[in-house]
Amino acid sequence: MTGRRMLVVGAHSADFVWRAAGTIARHTAGGGEAIVVALSYGERGESGGLWKEQGQTEENVKRIRHGEAERASTAVGATFRAFDFGDYPLDVGPERVDQLAELMRDFAPHVVLTHPQLDPFNPDHPAAYAAVARARLLTSGAGVASGFRTAAPSEFLVFEPHQPELCGFVPTVYVDITSTIDAKAEAMSSMAAQVYLKEYYQQRAEQRGNHARKVTGNADIRYAEAFQRILPNVVTEL
Ligand SMILES: [Zn+2]
Repeated sequence: MTGRRMLVVGAHSADFVWRAAGTIARHTAGGGEAIVVALSYGERGESGGLWKEQGQTEENVKRIRHGEAERASTAVGATFRAFDFGDYPLDVGPERVDQLAELMRDFAPHVVLTHPQLDPFNPDHPAAYAAVARARLLTSGAGVASGFRTAAPSEFLVFEPHQPELCGFVPTVYVDITSTIDAKAEAMSSMAAQVYLKEYYQQRAEQRGNHARKVTGNADIRYAEAFQRILPNVVTEL
């Protein structure tokens, strides 16, 4: 949507691709602006393909992952920002939370997307949620005049994790990504270090498209991405 700003924060540099690339592409295709932040490159824990190579180094993995994430971001019309905090474990202390809050104050996003609060399979995804939730509150304040620089409260949603039931994820929003599935496919193809996930998330988008058709009766929806709202959305009428 023209003039709308979206901030997507992933623990690792490829997370946004599997879970929200189609939605980001729709946002930017409609005239919105999007920034993708990677708190780390996932260089140690989510770069399986690269670590099979003899003599591989962490610095080289980071360099490759940076290029992949930039290409994927470009494919969906977003700007990529790497914080390079390190992964497995991702540790986001107060100064790093403030770095994220500063970005939020400057960018003043209308909508923020990140991981769900729980993930029994991944130590870094919940750490990212906690950092984003805290930074968002340090950005928006308590809805009253504040003694620090603020930006207006954003919408706050989490994107679909790999095993949704075990992460307590219940979709409350489906975004129809039929028109941007090709951009998502291109973004997924950019992530050579995790190529094994491409087919999996293509299937997930088809399944969510089926669910979105059932909810709406709109037979034109072929692909969708699922999100869960953390906060109620406010409307002027139903
Ligand atoms: Zn991840």
